[in-house]
Amino acid sequence: MTKITVAKGDGIGPEIMDATLKILQAAGAQLDIEEIEIGEKVYLNGNSSGIASDAWNSLRTTRVLLKSPVTTPQGGGFKSINVTIRKVLGLYANVRPCISYHPFVQTKHPVMDVVIVRENEEDLYAGIEHQQTDDVIQCLKLISKPGTEKIIRYAFEYAKAYNRKKVTCFTKDNIMKMTDGLFHKTFDEVGKEYPDIQKEHWIVDIGAAKLADTPEVFDVIVMPNLYGDILSDVAAQITGSVGLGGSANIGDGFAMFEAIHGSAPDIAGTDKANPSGLLLGAIQMLVHIGQKEVAETIQNAWLKTLEDGVHTADIFKSDNSHRLLGTQAFANAVIERL
Ligand code: NAD
Repeated sequence: MTKITVAKGDGIGPEIMDATLKILQAAGAQLDIEEIEIGEKVYLNGNSSGIASDAWNSLRTTRVLLKSPVTTPQGGGFKSINVTIRKVLGLYANVRPCISYHPFVQTKHPVMDVVIVRENEEDLYAGIEHQQTDDVIQCLKLISKPGTEKIIRYAFEYAKAYNRKKVTCFTKDNIMKMTDGLFHKTFDEVGKEYPDIQKEHWIVDIGAAKLADTPEVFDVIVMPNLYGDILSDVAAQITGSVGLGGSANIGDGFAMFEAIHGSAPDIAGTDKANPSGLLLGAIQMLVHIGQKEVAETIQNAWLKTLEDGVHTADIFKSDNSHRLLGTQAFANAVIERL
């Protein structure tokens, strides 16, 4: 039995978490679950950080969090709890596999198999923003040598462990010569330690265009925080749906697993959300806590569900889907195939 912390989050969060936990339980995952409340509800109850101290205690004890998306207000309100959790727990690596499930899920990119490794603590997300005058606000971009070395080494080690052939780096070092320049230079230095892995660098704007157009030329891509956040949504969406992307946030002593997407308030409470992103995050979690066999069983049942054309609304296409199911029925369909 492994003790984990679970947060159901906001919007579609509770629906996709219930679906995911139902599958994990049916597959025999050995989990002792401690539930915490984070997000909008906590904030609206008067806690300005959106996360209470007993929730931190749970995280410090279990060291593993399975988290649904949380709503973060735009242009004001409380600070992103995701960013806070990643920083407080030192979750420096955000690993986001974006894979096409052709021909079962319709996509323009049938041979896509890209893993985005996003630096998770620094860059413009360090949260150093201040007002200079009434009309001018400044945000500092923070890139450190130790932080950069850590994430780039993580990307190469990931490539080595999963037999991947190439690591690509995206930066904008033609303009941000010092910050992105440091990231690129460190990529070249650390890359020398991995002679068997191909290396390449793209300026992020043309790299992003290439990723959206010809993703099959990429394998593992490592990049600073903001570019990784944006481009992993692009990469997940072009596999067929942002609802198909799972994500691991890894630190030295802690780890958090989640879907790539947000709390989707537009479809919350309608049983329309695809639980696959969170389920794939949970599969990454099971591997992380040493329950690889259960992870494989769930992954196979989930793939079989997609192959049988049993799809949620976001990936349902009349020419290659057979049954349109809601969130909970989709989870039951996966359970039937375990
Ligand atoms: P979003 O990812 O929530 O939604 C974008 C679009 O994708 C919407 O049309 C939505 O219906 C659809 N979508 C997302 N997930 C889906 C799923 N599983 N199945 C089917 N369709 C799905 O992005 P947004 O609307 O920009 O953000 C909403 C809120 O989520 C914001 O408050 C944002 O801050 C937050 N957010 C949280 C996280 C996180 O907790 N890790 C990540 C991103 C955004």
